[in-house]
Amino acid sequence: MIIDSKQYAGRCACGKTHTLQTAYTVVERGCMTKLNALMAQHELGGFTVAVYDANTYAATADRHPQADAEIVLQPEGLHADERGVALLLEKLPPQAQTIIAVGAGTIHDIVRYCAYARGADFVSCPTAASVDGFCSSVASMTWEGCKRTLTAVAPKIVVADVDIIKAAPLRLARSGFGDMVGKYVALSDWKIAHLLTGEYYCPHIAQLTQEATQAVVDCVDGIIAGDADAYEKLTYGLLLSGLAMQMLGNSRPASGAEHHISHLIEMAPEGLDVRSDALHGEKVGVGTLLAIGEYQRLRTVDPQQFADYRGFSDGELQAIFGAQTAAGLREENRQDCAAAVTAQQLRQSWQGICAVLSQLPQPEELRALYERGGICAAPEDIGVAGEKAAQLLDASPAVRNRLTLMRLRRCLE
Ligand SMILES: [Zn+2]
Ligand SMILES: [Zn+2]
Repeated sequence: MIIDSKQYAGRCACGKTHTLQTAYTVVERGCMTKLNALMAQHELGGFTVAVYDANTYAATADRHPQADAEIVLQPEGLHADERGVALLLEKLPPQAQTIIAVGAGTIHDIVRYCAYARGADFVSCPTAASVDGFCSSVASMTWEGCKRTLTAVAPKIVVADVDIIKAAPLRLARSGFGDMVGKYVALSDWKIAHLLTGEYYCPHIAQLTQEATQAVVDCVDGIIAGDADAYEKLTYGLLLSGLAMQMLGNSRPASGAEHHISHLIEMAPEGLDVRSDALHGEKVGVGTLLAIGEYQRLRTVDPQQFADYRGFSDGELQAIFGAQTAAGLREENRQDCAAAVTAQQLRQSWQGICAVLSQLPQPEELRALYERGGICAAPEDIGVAGEKAAQLLDASPAVRNRLTLMRLRRCLE
């Protein structure tokens, strides 16, 4: 499967002109053996550095691309954070002009950030269908304890070898599935924000993300069966979702309340006593079920009870996150995206909001799908006590100043 970016970029019906830094994406069996030729075709080269971790170095042993330098990071304790970045920057030859990331999400985020910092071109070789961020132009990082979306660069080309991806542990593909199924919630949040506050919305980008999600949901049985076509579709869906984010310039179509739950768990806030070693997509999958259950329930609340929006107080933030992290989140929420939302506005838009929510799958439907795919569904599946669910719903909007129904829930009851 080849995704030709020319087909997607350009003048759009939404009134904007969308651009893509990623010119070419290929998802095929064996395509990594053509990487150097593809790079030459796209005028990528100069001093080239390939970055692996020890696992992906071994997994791609028969098809390492030619490079002037190879860096193999140790996967233990490697995270997309300030330490991971410092580690790579220290090893990266100063003359690097093109950096190839050969790995999954963490390697990609570290490389894309370092490529940005050094002004180098970035080439992506995903080795697992584990996240949708491969072609993102921003790096999702934990920076000094806070989840941050940092400016970085998108890959010029993406070469996703299905032979390698299919051979990766099944758990990684399940995680990719969890990341994609979250788009149901993310797209609803985006539409609701558009309805309520007039936030910019592009139906074309939303449609692309929807199609990518459907492609992934349809291949759940094939993934379990180890079918190469299903892996190709899953990878295609993940990459398409990433391209949709790139077209928009932010993660709006792909990240809403479900991702905020995942980020909250990742931050392991002092006052919440949650901690999880689960993968990003596993947490997102759990967050998605929690969010969809709650969103379906919110359809039944009485609009007469709605109140004007009230933001997170200092006391609330400190109780959940502790003094140090609370300071960062106070900054994040300073220009609260929901500050102007009133009860009356919500009542006026409520019918439209409920129409958006009625498009969401039912939690039972989703749970059955998870079961077929062996996907983490309950908080316990990722090491979080079930009784924490209510607190996760309450606190998660604070991690990102983005309008979601979960944030608006503060006005609904
Ligand atoms: Zn558009
Ligand atoms: Zn994600």
